[in-house]
Amino acid sequence: MCFKLLSLQNCKRTSYQEAKQIIENQKKEFYKENPENLEEQAINLVGKDVYQKLIKGYTEKQWGRDCKDLPPFIIKRLPLRFTYDNNYFNDRYQGIPIGGYNQLIDKLLEGTDVLLNTPFENLKDVEYDKIIYTGAIDEFFKFKYGKLEYRTVKFENSILDTDNYQGNAVVNYTERDVPYTRIIEHKHFEFGKQPKTVISKEYPIEWKEGLEPYYPINDDRNNQLYEKYRNEADKLKNIYFGGRLGQYKYYDMDKTIEAALNLINEIEK
Ligand SMILES: Cc1cc2nc3c(=O)[nH]c(=O)nc-3n(C[C@H](O)[C@H](O)[C@H](O)COP(=O)(O)OP(=O)(O)OC[C@H]3O[C@@H](n4cnc5c(N)ncnc54)[C@H](O)[C@@H]3O)c2cc1C
Repeated sequence: MCFKLLSLQNCKRTSYQEAKQIIENQKKEFYKENPENLEEQAINLVGKDVYQKLIKGYTEKQWGRDCKDLPPFIIKRLPLRFTYDNNYFNDRYQGIPIGGYNQLIDKLLEGTDVLLNTPFENLKDVEYDKIIYTGAIDEFFKFKYGKLEYRTVKFENSILDTDNYQGNAVVNYTERDVPYTRIIEHKHFEFGKQPKTVISKEYPIEWKEGLEPYYPINDDRNNQLYEKYRNEADKLKNIYFGGRLGQYKYYDMDKTIEAALNLINEIEK
């Protein structure tokens, strides 16, 4: 990642080869055969400097737990890129649909009856051929085996009297003592020219009833509980569970779309 290379450079380590070598040396020096927590796992993958500067604070804010108390499997891979490309992902094409997702979804739903602000509970007597349910699977089954855990995000939105606050759509704050994980400046997604700007600070928090669940916490306890609900779901006819809440998996948009297409292929078989 570019910001890694730059931060290593700020520490007066200048060449790609040097940066690579330092990381390799640290990985060897601190390597743990069987990492017992996220900290050990992350150091195995990227060494101590990158872990301390970029992973530790951000991850602890995101999950609300010390990295030593988080299971290692949360981080399976930490791809390193020794270039100045500062995109978050390695994907060749990155962006959002022109006009935003609303425009895309509006067209997908054209000609369809849409009920907003209607809990699924209220629709149970409606006749249907097939249902694809994208709410929380534990809620669907009235939490009969217990509650799955989630993280959620509190957004603090402000309109600022400047045409450009941070020069970029997303800036991440990896330090532990900054309480938010990132600031979104929405106009930069669409190259907006407005005289003012809207920003959102994101504060990750624990989910509780009444809040919208965002991130599944896929630790052993929750995964085992999810499997129980999954078994119940498999017994139902013509009701399918989709998306990150229905399938209790953290999906980015591309994975959500891929999973949705896979589900439709399954259903149509
Ligand atoms: C803060 C944040 C930032 C993100 N940033 C990115 C990013 O930069 N790039 C990226 O690729 N992905 C990002 N994602 C992930 C992306 O938003 C998800 O992958 C995607 O929205 C998942 O789609 P979904 O349909 O599974 O779930 P959702 O989009 O959550 O849709 C589920 C819908 O079901 C509704 N629902 C739930 N329960 C009920 C019920 N009982 N009755 C009626 N309706 C119900 C919900 O209100 C919701 O509208 C981000 C997620 C978050 C939370």
